[in-house]
Amino acid sequence: MSESVEKDFDIKNYTTFKIGGVIDEVFFPESVEEFVRILQKYPNIPVLGNLSNTLVSSFGYNGKVILTTKMNKISVEGTTVTADCGVKGPKLAQEMCKCALSGLEFMIGFPGSVGGEVYMNASANGQCVSDKIVSVLCYSRKMGLTTIKKDQMGFDYRTSRCEKDGLIVLSAEFELEQRPQEQIQKQMEENLDFRRKHQPSLALPNCGSVFKNPMCNPAGRLLESVGAKEIMIGGARVWRNHSNFIVNVDNAKSLDVLYLMSEIKSRVAQMYNIKLEPEIKFLGNKNKEEIKLWQKLTQK
Ligand SMILES: Cc1cc2nc3c(=O)[nH]c(=O)nc-3n(C[C@H](O)[C@H](O)[C@H](O)COP(=O)(O)OP(=O)(O)OC[C@H]3O[C@@H](n4cnc5c(N)ncnc54)[C@H](O)[C@@H]3O)c2cc1C
Repeated sequence: MSESVEKDFDIKNYTTFKIGGVIDEVFFPESVEEFVRILQKYPNIPVLGNLSNTLVSSFGYNGKVILTTKMNKISVEGTTVTADCGVKGPKLAQEMCKCALSGLEFMIGFPGSVGGEVYMNASANGQCVSDKIVSVLCYSRKMGLTTIKKDQMGFDYRTSRCEKDGLIVLSAEFELEQRPQEQIQKQMEENLDFRRKHQPSLALPNCGSVFKNPMCNPAGRLLESVGAKEIMIGGARVWRNHSNFIVNVDNAKSLDVLYLMSEIKSRVAQMYNIKLEPEIKFLGNKNKEEIKLWQKLTQK
């Protein structure tokens, strides 16, 4: 059976940063069987969800990529919910509200997919993906198709075992709690309200927090103290209201963002001797300068 694939796919407008280039081939699996078939055929193929945490190179990517957009089924049985990896967080939050099920209200406010959120162990407003997870259906070359229980998922701050062990998330099962719909709705509105005040909207294309918070101090505060808010490189600038966001203000290119990240990271390293670690991911293999910058940015 043949897979649905698009060649020379311009990914820029699929990313929340509105930055990216042409990918040689992009697959859009619609079922677990099709997904696994592609993974078996192309073992190291990158898998991406809603591209809200990934900087894609403006030079594009030489190779194949899977986008999970068409893996979007949700099933509910009592208080147990299973969501495919491509389901968008805000959609899942709204659907759970309709079912009067609580535990995923935080997903309303940011544009991740279930797969990306499990991979990153996304969190907000005092809730976290790993709080309500029971198990994750994963695929890896070593283990094949396996259901992994929450305590084996290695969830930690903005990471999970997926990252270390190359696990691909196919779906996740959550155990939620019954709660009156009005209370869930109110909680989601409060979460959205908080965001409007503290984070850039997608009208200013961005990728969420750029660096992870070190143990000692929030990254935003460290960056603000080194004057990050004043810096703009090409079309990318540090957001004026919070220094841990980079916004695409004028047709920014991936190199602009990487130079900007390098500059603000090195200012923090010089002043505080703290090495900020990128929270965002990077996809690109065509430009030597970018590869060098990314290696430097992720050096431990
Ligand atoms: C405005 C804005 C606000 C944000 N606020 C928050 C916030 O409050 N809290 C928070 O935690 N994050 C936040 N983010 C960041 C982002 O939304 C999350 O990290 C989210 O979990 C990423 O999901 P995604 O599908 O977009 O991932 P992508 O960017 O597509 O991918 C991110 C990583 O996950 C991997 N991945 C994606 N899908 C799969 C899969 N099925 N299997 C295995 N690996 C996979 C990718 O390979 C990549 O390494 C925000 C982003 C934006 C733009």
